[in-house]
Order: sequence, then structure tokens, then C-alpha cells
Amino acid sequence: MIFDNHNRPITYLRLAVTDRCNLRCFYCMPEEGIKYLPKSQLLTYEEMERLVRVLARLGVSKVRITGGEPFVRNGLMDFLWRLKATEGIEELNITTNGVLTEPLVPELVRLGIGSVNLSIDTLDRERFRQITRRDELPAVRGTLNALLENRIPVKLNAVVMEGKNIEDLPLLAELTRDHPVEVRFIEEMPFNGEGSHYPVLNWTHRRILQELQTLYPGLERQQDSPFSTAATYRIPGYQGTLGIIAAFTRTFCGTCNRIRLTAQGTLKTCLYDNGVLDVRALLRAGATDADLTAAFLKAFAHRPKNGFEAEHERGPVTESMSTIGG
Ligand code: SAM
Repeated sequence: MIFDNHNRPITYLRLAVTDRCNLRCFYCMPEEGIKYLPKSQLLTYEEMERLVRVLARLGVSKVRITGGEPFVRNGLMDFLWRLKATEGIEELNITTNGVLTEPLVPELVRLGIGSVNLSIDTLDRERFRQITRRDELPAVRGTLNALLENRIPVKLNAVVMEGKNIEDLPLLAELTRDHPVEVRFIEEMPFNGEGSHYPVLNWTHRRILQELQTLYPGLERQQDSPFSTAATYRIPGYQGTLGIIAAFTRTFCGTCNRIRLTAQGTLKTCLYDNGVLDVRALLRAGATDADLTAAFLKAFAHRPKNGFEAEHERGPVTESMSTIGG
């Protein structure tokens, strides 16, 4: 296992397989004028497979596929099967908006997917349309039902936003009554693809917790899993749990075990850094596995201590989360 310069193990890769998305969530992307990467600038599946193999040898054992929306990239399922067979990869998970996912759920079961994170900010069709600028809630609900019926471990991700979905907090929380899901409430971050709009964080993790405690006075703190970004709670008697993720307040950097590869092959050792290594350039210049290993190790030895240090080194973040994967 490899440890970084702050003695944190690096065991978890978040791999964005595309920057394209079939939703236009206002907090992630502008409605129009998005410049998607040409295909030649995306990592190929073969390149990604090779990078995962190299990273697995360095101790990465968990991979989460993300995007953009991963299922808009052709050939994703074949790629997942190949990743699943990679030596050293013990857990393969995926984050999806669920628009195209329902028909693929049986194959995800056969594949042995570890868990699916489904992004769902609201259970109201009109609010969904306003937030995502697309009328796709029925498809997302279909995916949720299919995941639950097939007993795939599910985490639901909801970004908490003033004036947009506060009334959904109890509606989403109630899903944990009868289902063993984790509903995770996430602070909004400034990765919206618009330099001009830096969000005011009205809903901090503390305020989200206060709201949940008001709604559910008996809310019980749970033991978080190691390296978890979520502080976890349970409503007494409910099957599932609630998580609160201080994504902008950044309270969990001290146990961060994750690295990211963007769809164009940039390594990020912190969500808030500006990309620390152009892995695609290395690959396409003919790097050997030993060259790649050396470059990764160097990057891991220079990780920022936390997301504030990373952001300070680069200036305010403005890019769309669809280029990073969350
Ligand atoms: N398309 C997939 C999905 O929707 O889950 C995967 C990619 S998406 C960028 C991953 C996660 O990032 C989603 O849960 C989304 O809500 C979250 N996200 C995007 N922009 C964000 C922002 N500005 N603040 C907080 N979360 C954000």
C-alpha cells in the first residue's frame, strides 16, 4: 500500500469516463455553450484499463466509475467487465444520474457491482425539471426501483440548495424508512462551470444536521465507515441511514484516500486541485508501466494537506463537476 506525504493511504480511484451528460443540473453545468471534449482527447477504454492495472499494483483496490454521465459513453458495460477482472480491484462502484440505467440493472447484478450512487436531488417532477433542466424524474425513479428490487446497495446523493429542494429533505429521508439505502445530503460546491457564480453556502453541513434533527428529534449518530466522507445518522426504527457530506466545508481531508482521473486523463490528488499530472500525455508519449508508476508515486508524495491548501495553490475553482466526476 502507498501512503502520501501526510501518511494517508491511496486506495481509491474515481475514474471519469466521459465529460458528457444527459442532464444540465444548474449547479454543475451552464444550460448551453458547453464545450465537450472531442473523442480523441478522452482516454480510451484501453488506456483507462492500463492505468487501473498500474494503480492496482500500487495498492488501489476500489474504483468508482463516474463522469459526466458514465452510461452515455458507448461500450461502458464491456469496460466494466474488464475492470472487474483486474487483479487487485476488489470493489467496483458507479455513480449515475439513473436516466439510462434501469435496463442495465440486471447486468450490473451479474457483474457484481459493489454499489450504485444515484444522484436524485428531489422527488418532485417539477423541481427535478427545474434543477436538471430535463424532465427525467420518471426514468430515475425507475432506476431506483430496479436497484432496490435487485438488492444492489444504493446511496442516494442530493445536493442541498436554498430555494430549490429544501422541502425534499424529509421526502428523501423517508425513503430510509422501508429501504436499506443511505440518503446523502451534500453541500453545494462551486464546480458549476461558470466562473461568475460562486455559490453562497446557505446550507452548511451543520445547518443540514440541525434541520434533520428538527424533523427527527431522535436522530442517532452512527459509526462512519473508515475513510467515509459522510457523517452518518439513523432515524430510530428506520432501515436505511442518512449521510451529511461537508463537501465544501471540507472536514474529512485528514482521512482522504482518494485520487481522481478526469475523462481527459488528468490526475487529481485532491478534488480542489487543478490537476497535478497529465497522464494522457505520458501514455501517448510511450510511457512504460515503470514510467507511469514513478509519475504516480511522485504525485502522491506531493499531495496538498487539504482542499483549502489545494484551492489556495490554484485560485478559485470554476470548472464543471462533469469534467471531474464528483
Ligand atoms: N452523472 C453522474 C451523476 O449524476 O451522478 C456522475 C457525475 S456527477 C458530476 C457526480 C455528482 O456530483 C452528482 O451527485 C452531482 O449532484 C454532484 N455535483 C455536481 N456538481 C456539484 C456541485 N456544484 N456541488 C455539489 N455536488 C455536485
